Amino acid sequence: MNERPISPVRRPEEIPLDAALRPRTLDELEGQERIKKNLRILIEAARGRGEPLDHILFYGPPGLGKTTLAHICANEMGVGIKITSGPAIERAGDLAAILTNLRRGDILFIDEVHRLGRAVEEILYPAMEDYALDIVIGKGPSARSIRLSLPRFTVIGATTRLALLTAPLRARFGSVYRLDFYEPEAIEAIVRRAAKLLKVELTDEGAALIARRARGTPRVALRLLKRVRDYAQVQGEDPITASTAEAALKLLEVDELGLDDIDRRLLETIIKKFDGGPVGLDTLAAALSEEADTLMDVVEPYLLQLGFLERTARGRVATRHAYEHLGIEYPKVPEQLGLLEYSEQPEQPEQPPLY
Ligand code: ADP
Repeated sequence: MNERPISPVRRPEEIPLDAALRPRTLDELEGQERIKKNLRILIEAARGRGEPLDHILFYGPPGLGKTTLAHICANEMGVGIKITSGPAIERAGDLAAILTNLRRGDILFIDEVHRLGRAVEEILYPAMEDYALDIVIGKGPSARSIRLSLPRFTVIGATTRLALLTAPLRARFGSVYRLDFYEPEAIEAIVRRAAKLLKVELTDEGAALIARRARGTPRVALRLLKRVRDYAQVQGEDPITASTAEAALKLLEVDELGLDDIDRRLLETIIKKFDGGPVGLDTLAAALSEEADTLMDVVEPYLLQLGFLERTARGRVATRHAYEHLGIEYPKVPEQLGLLEYSEQPEQPEQPPLY
C-alpha cells in the first residue's frame, strides 16, 4: 500500500531527502497561511516573555507538514527538539526517561499522539500541566508516590485522527491547528523550490503538471518530482517539460487528478459491487483486501476533498463526480444510490389515536 507513488506516508528511505528539502523557517514554508500567521504570534510572544511555547496540536492527513512545522517551531524558538511517536512510547517508564532528559524550552514532538497508551497518558497530563512527574516507588501497602519537577517544555502533538484523542489530552493543548490540503499554486512553488535544491531543470509547465497531480500534498509532490526526474534522466530529456512529466506519471498510473489504482478500485468497488453505496468501511476494506484504518487515513481524505466520496451514517457513497471521472453512467434513479434515504427521510405516518 505504501508502495503507491502517491502515498502521503513517509518511507524510511526518504528521511535523508526530507531533511534536505524541509523548510527551516516559517518564511520558507509555502502555504498554510492561517497557521503561519498564528504561529508567528505565538512564537514572538513566547520569545518576548522569555518563556517556552504553549503546547500545540497539529492534525490533518499525512504528508501535509505537521513534522515540518514542529521542526520550524524549534528552529524559530532556538530550542532543541526530541522526536518520538505514540506507538514508540510503550511504557510509562519510557516517557519518564524522555521527560527527565529535556532541557528548559525544549520541544517534545509526539507523532501519532492518538496512539499513546493509557498509562503513558496518565504520566503526560501532570507533565504538561504542572511540569511534574509523579513516580510510584515500591509496591503494595508501602508504595508511595513522589513528585519530581521538570523543566518547562513544550509538547507538539500530531495526529491524523483528532476524534481518537482522549478529551483530557486534547484539553492540555493550548493551540490546535488543522492542516488542509494545499492550493495548486502552493504545491507548484514547493515543486519548483525542490527542483532547484535537487538541481533538476524543470519548465514552469512541467512543475504545474506535477503539482496538479500531487493531491494537494507536499510529500506526494516531492515524490512525484523524484520519479519524474528519474524517468527524464533515463530518457535523456533535459529540461523536464510537461509532456515528459505526463509520460512519466502515466507510467506510474497516476491520472490527471492524481488518482492511482487503489483510488479507482475503491470507487469502482463501491459502484459496481455495492450499487454506489452506502457500504460500511469494514466491508469495503475486506472487499479491497486493505486495512480499514489505511483506507480512512490515507485513501479517503483526498477522495472526500474531491467530492468523489461521501461519508454517511450508514457508510460510504460514491457521488456523481466519481461516476463521471470513471466514465460510468450515473443511474437515473437516485434511490439506487441510497442517497435519498438520508437526505429525505419519509415522514413517520401518524399514529392512529388509541381511543
Ligand atoms: P506530516 O508530518 O504531516 O506527515 P511532513 O512534515 O513530514 O508531513 O512533510 C512531508 C514532506 O513535505 C517533507 O519532506 C517536507 O519537507 C515537505 N513539506 C511539507 N510541507 C511543506 C511546505 N509547506 N513547504 C515545503 N515543503 C513542505
